[in-house]
Amino acid sequence: MSRRAWLVSLSCVVCLLVGAVSLPRMPLLIHAARYGRPRALKMPVSGLQPREARSSWHAPRSGGRKHEGIDLFAKQGTTVVSATRGEIWRIGRDKLGGNVVTVLGDGPALYYYAHLDDWEDGLFVGRRVEKGTPLGFVGNTGNARTTPSHLHFGVYRVGWWRSRAVDPAPLLGIR
Ligand SMILES: [Zn+2]
Repeated sequence: MSRRAWLVSLSCVVCLLVGAVSLPRMPLLIHAARYGRPRALKMPVSGLQPREARSSWHAPRSGGRKHEGIDLFAKQGTTVVSATRGEIWRIGRDKLGGNVVTVLGDGPALYYYAHLDDWEDGLFVGRRVEKGTPLGFVGNTGNARTTPSHLHFGVYRVGWWRSRAVDPAPLLGIR
């Protein structure tokens, strides 16, 4: 084979690999294009003041994991609201997170709300939300069963290859 043919077939292989890796991310990347730079966030637990909360970002967790978010403690049933404008990306049940909602919004980023006692009525994937739209209620579902009720709040900046967890505390004015 000529040198040129080699180069062409090699670039095809690279294209296929890139496609295979990024194709499942395409819907996320297309939707993320709607959202701009990160903006100041609204406290996602109703009535909680930043000074009442403490950052637990990167605290050690079981299995050598690092805590990829912060825990906002509040009474069970306290309303959880969207910290940003955006759209509901996922509603589901995770082993660790329990009842969860993910919102795609400014950053662009995925905002992950976990351990919910229950979801707000009328949520569906694709529904647009504003800053302050109710998403659910604080609880202790998932691996928070034995802990006081709290909202686990995670922010994942959407990148071309993967979404990367960032510290939500400074975005909420928590020290
Ligand atoms: Zn947590």
